[in-house]
Amino acid sequence: MDTIAAIATATGGAIGIIRLSGDMAIKAVNTIFKPINKKQFSDMPSRMLVYGNLYDRFGNMLDSCMAVHFDSDKTYTGEKMAELQLHGSPAVLSEALSALFEQGVRQAEAGEFTRRAFLNGKMNLMQAEAVSDLIAAHTLESAHNAVGQISGTIANGMDELRQKLINVSAHFLAVVDYPDEDIDPFLESELKNTLFDTENKLHKLRISYEQGRILREGLPCAIVGRPNVGKSTLLNALVGFERAIVTDIAGTTRDTIEEVIRIGSLTLRLQDTAGIRESEDIVEQIGVERAKKAVDEAALVLAVIDGSDELNEQDINALSTAKDSKLAILVINKSDKGLTKQNIPEGFEHIVEISAKTGEGIDKLRDKILSVTGMNNVVFDGGIITNARQADALNRAEIACRQARNAAEFGMTPDAILQDVESAISALGELTGQSVRDDIIQDIFSRFCVGK
Ligand code: GDP
Ligand code: MG
Repeated sequence: MDTIAAIATATGGAIGIIRLSGDMAIKAVNTIFKPINKKQFSDMPSRMLVYGNLYDRFGNMLDSCMAVHFDSDKTYTGEKMAELQLHGSPAVLSEALSALFEQGVRQAEAGEFTRRAFLNGKMNLMQAEAVSDLIAAHTLESAHNAVGQISGTIANGMDELRQKLINVSAHFLAVVDYPDEDIDPFLESELKNTLFDTENKLHKLRISYEQGRILREGLPCAIVGRPNVGKSTLLNALVGFERAIVTDIAGTTRDTIEEVIRIGSLTLRLQDTAGIRESEDIVEQIGVERAKKAVDEAALVLAVIDGSDELNEQDINALSTAKDSKLAILVINKSDKGLTKQNIPEGFEHIVEISAKTGEGIDKLRDKILSVTGMNNVVFDGGIITNARQADALNRAEIACRQARNAAEFGMTPDAILQDVESAISALGELTGQSVRDDIIQDIFSRFCVGK
C-alpha cells in the first residue's frame, strides 16, 4: 500500500498537523525531521512526542516542531502512522508536504485514512460513516450520537444479527448436505424465532432514522393561518427577536421567512408564511402559493387562529391545508385579549393557547412541539441512524426477514425460506460493509474531507 500524507487541520490555526499512514510513514519523516536530542526519529519510542527541526526539499530548516510515530498495531488506519505538528502557516505546511512527497509519499485522497481503517478491519462501514458525522456535527446531540456510533454499539449488534442468520443457514445446509452425520436436527421454530427477533431489532433501528434526519437537518415547520392572526408575532416570540415585520395591516408578510431555532435538542426550521387568503395583489398571491408549498414540505405545522375573534371562512380555508399535514398543532393566539371559546376548528389533536404578544403559553407550546415530535426524551447515545444509505439497507434486511418468516408460516420448504434469509444477510453485509460494492465504498469515502 502507498504511504499517504495530508494536512489534517483547517487553514489559519496556530498549529497545523500533517498525518501520514503507510509502510514508509516513519522513514519519510525520519529523513526530513531531526530530533533536538540528536537521536534518530525512528529510534524514538512509539507514541512519544519529539521536539526537533524540520528541513525542506533543499535542506533548509523549515520549522522547529513536534513529531510522533505510531506502531501499526494500534493506529487509526491499522498501518504505521506518523504526525508532524508544525506552525500553522500554509506555506510551511505545503512545503513540508512537498518534502514528504519527495520521499515517495503521496497526497491522501478524501477520506482515505478512514477508508484504510475500514479496509484493514479497524472499523466497519457504519462506524466509518459516523466519523464523517462527528466531523460535520453542528450540535452537541449530533456529536454525542456520532461518537456513540463510532464506539460501535450498533455496528457490532448488526454484525451479531448477521452472524446469527449465517449460523441458521449454515446449520440447515449442513443437515441437508450431510444427512449421515450426527448433526442436531434443523428446528424451524428456532429459525422463526431468530427471524422474528432480527426483524424487531432492525425495525427499531430503521425507524430511528426519522429522528436522525431531524437531528441532522432540523425539522421543517410552517406557521400558517389567515392574515393578522399573529403568525409573524409568534415567529418572533419563538426566535427571540424581531425577525419578521409585524403590523395590524393584513397581508404584511408577503413572502415566507425561514429561521432556524433550537428547542431543547430539537432544531426547528421555522417558516413564517404569508397569511392564506384570496387576494388581488399579485405579490401576495405568490406569497400565498409559497405558503401552501411550505405546508406541503413541512413535517410540523403550527396552525394559528385569533382566539379573540370569531372563526371565519378565511380561517377554515387556511387551516384546511394544515389538517392534511402529518403533524399539526392548533395555536389559539391572543389569549391576552380574552378568548371566545366558540368555533374551535375541528380535527386538531394538539391544541395550545398562547399570547404571542405577551409570551404567555410560549413555553407550553415549546413543550408541545417537543412531545409531538417525539424529541422530548430521546437519548443521543449512538442509537439513532442519521444516514439514508444505512436506513435503506436496514429496510431491505427487515423486509427480507419478514418474507422469510412469512414463508416459514406458510409452510414453504426451508430452502425457499433460506433464500430470503440470504437476502437479509446480504443487506446486513452492505450495512456494515462486509459485502458492499467497491464503487459504493469509493463514493462514501469521497464525501469525507481530505486528512480524515
Ligand atoms: P400575521 O399576519 O398572522 O403575521 O400577524 P402579525 O404577527 O403581523 O400580527 C397582526 C396583529 O396582531 C399585530 O397588530 C400584532 O401586534 C397583533 N397580535 C399578534 N399576536 C397577538 C397577541 O397575542 N395578542 C394581541 N393582543 N395582539 C397580537
Ligand atoms: Mg405575518
